[in-house]
Amino acid sequence: MTGFLNMMTGKAVVAIGSILVMAVLIGSADAQQDTVARATDVAPVPVCSNNKGEQVQFTTTDRGRPGLAVGMAIRDANGKPVVMRSNFPNAPLEFQQFIDRHECAHHQTGDVDRPHPPRNGPEHLMNEAVSDCVAIRRLRDEEGFDNKAFGKVTATLRTDMAKIGFPESSIASRIRNIAGCFKNPASAGDLIRQVLQERGLPVQ
Ligand SMILES: [Zn+2]
Repeated sequence: MTGFLNMMTGKAVVAIGSILVMAVLIGSADAQQDTVARATDVAPVPVCSNNKGEQVQFTTTDRGRPGLAVGMAIRDANGKPVVMRSNFPNAPLEFQQFIDRHECAHHQTGDVDRPHPPRNGPEHLMNEAVSDCVAIRRLRDEEGFDNKAFGKVTATLRTDMAKIGFPESSIASRIRNIAGCFKNPASAGDLIRQVLQERGLPVQ
């Protein structure tokens, strides 16, 4: 478990307290956005396949709270791995890109095919933190996100989490994790491989 955090932060230890603080914010981890900026565009879907090499499809749904951009990583009724996007057009593009890759990461790490851990328990929080980390590193390494683009992601996250009612400590904790991942030169692939290894899942 701590191995994941080590990979994400590059530090030997991350205070368990920050994990617990994250517990309160995971409720919205996949229910992320309503938006500051208005965009009419929807981000192009990222390359995404799961840990079994299956292609992940991105679909659009009108599920969810109006005005709140969200993503969900699941297998659909036919057993196909999908990311369902909801209310994307209202969110800043950078944030849409973040949600897509966060959800993709749940497929890449095998989360989707594992029993869902108790909501807001440590394992769930770890999964969310890993997905955040993978997402921001992909944006950095594949999309060339600089500090400005990074700032757009975290600013939107901050605004929306505050709107939903999360305390500043929870918001800061989540953003700290994402910032640590962004600064750490390790790649998204490094973290995914580590997670798969720790889970005893084959690494492609
Ligand atoms: Zn998530």
